[in-house]
Amino acid sequence: MNDTMIYRVLCKYAKKRGIFLEENAPLPDGVNGLWYCFGGGVEVISLSRHVESLPLKNFALAHELGHSCLHKGVGNLFNRKQCREDYATAKEKEADDFARRLIDRLKSS
Ligand SMILES: [Zn+2]
Repeated sequence: MNDTMIYRVLCKYAKKRGIFLEENAPLPDGVNGLWYCFGGGVEVISLSRHVESLPLKNFALAHELGHSCLHKGVGNLFNRKQCREDYATAKEKEADDFARRLIDRLKSS
């Protein structure tokens, strides 16, 4: 699977999970993606408009999907920068591992 197809599949996963996807979001520099889980289970993934490379975008989206799959109920907001700098470093690593495994699997399919 190429990067364009992977992006499409990841968007489909998000949709299937009922996650609202905000593309081209005006996120601060250094933040590629964000996952929000609001009360009532409403989830939003924002992807930064600054990320132009598709492989990077795919990784950011897969990473945020990882938070949705692994960390629902654990917290309501994660982003790479913030998580790296505080107690949630382990959660960041889990989301990174999830993203790497998911993209590897899609690439070889
Ligand atoms: Zn994260």
